[in-house]
Amino acid sequence: MIPGPIEFESEVMQCMAVPTPSHVSPDFIDTFANSLKLMKEVWQCPSGQAFIVAGTGTLAMDMAAANLIETGDKALVISTGYFGLRFAEILKRYGAEVDILEAPVGDIVSLELIDQQLKSKSYKLLTFTHVDTSTAVLNDAKSIGALGKKYKVLTVLDGVCSVAGEEIKQEDWGLDIVLTASQKAVGVPPGLALLVASPNAIQAFEQRTSPVGNYYGDWTNWLPIMKAYENRQASYFGTPAVNLVIALEKSLQLIVKEGLDNRFDRHKRAGKAMRAAIKALGLELLSKNEQVSANTLSAPLYPSQMDASSFLKGVNQEGVILAGGLLPKLKNNYFRIGHMGSVNKSDLLATVGAIESALKNNGYSDELGLGTVQILKHF
Ligand code: PMP
Repeated sequence: MIPGPIEFESEVMQCMAVPTPSHVSPDFIDTFANSLKLMKEVWQCPSGQAFIVAGTGTLAMDMAAANLIETGDKALVISTGYFGLRFAEILKRYGAEVDILEAPVGDIVSLELIDQQLKSKSYKLLTFTHVDTSTAVLNDAKSIGALGKKYKVLTVLDGVCSVAGEEIKQEDWGLDIVLTASQKAVGVPPGLALLVASPNAIQAFEQRTSPVGNYYGDWTNWLPIMKAYENRQASYFGTPAVNLVIALEKSLQLIVKEGLDNRFDRHKRAGKAMRAAIKALGLELLSKNEQVSANTLSAPLYPSQMDASSFLKGVNQEGVILAGGLLPKLKNNYFRIGHMGSVNKSDLLATVGAIESALKNNGYSDELGLGTVQILKHF
């Protein structure tokens, strides 16, 4: 129950065990083409260009920056934690002049503040994190997308901890890039950088006057490959992660079969139930209120005096794996529970049960069942 890699569906895992076909075999070409098409469906971006490249979420961030930024371009980073600041570092690497609007821990940057900042200076691009996995804070992607449109700024959404878990309508919301990694709510083992670019983003890339300062991530290399596979033709730049792409097609099919609205609703119920359980146990959450709380993971604070490692070990002894804190300054003050992808009621009950048991064994409380009843009520 960590926030990625998550637990994968067995049908997806079986794809990892099929004999690896050639990346130019007819069956694999179909698989690649289907995956690109399914991505646009899941991202809700019918006129977008999907990219599937071997790598991690950080590579997807790197590709967005490398292909859209030229030296001296102005970029705004709206940061709600660790991964917002990472984006600022990546943008700087490609010569961007970066301003950062940083939210207080557990909160978002207000839309008024973002609006003011965009009014005060002309930016080429803004980045923000839909769900920052270090804080479990959820940004209002629809409203930030609208601000991007208002000021004609390219919007880049780091959706690593949200795509296929939190609602995203890339095209309707005017988001230019929505990127993720395979190992989270998309439900495929780690190793794929996934990204959908709007026609606007592709146009901005095509209008560059300087070469992309990253060879592997350069869309000059990848765009013809994606287009060839879309047209069901063999093509090669770098060998695709063949089994992962087969697994991706399967997982995207399962996501579409569940129905996007049903899937978002299931995540909402999981998030709400988990937060209710945590609160019923007397613990606080890092995210400030329900409105800014992610549905894909939760970040509860340890009770004061609780020894972090002994608590996590206690949870582990009950058969559940949770993650520690990620924000360097607060690392030992909170822990993280992932509840995305295939997560179901049994997972939530087992997790809250394990937390209750570890709290009890660490001398925090005597009563069992206060949290689990909330899962039964809300999920
Ligand atoms: N952004 C967010 C919001 C993330 O949660 C992560 C990974 N936890 C990343 C970016 C980086 O992804 P990766 O570890 O796959 O490089």
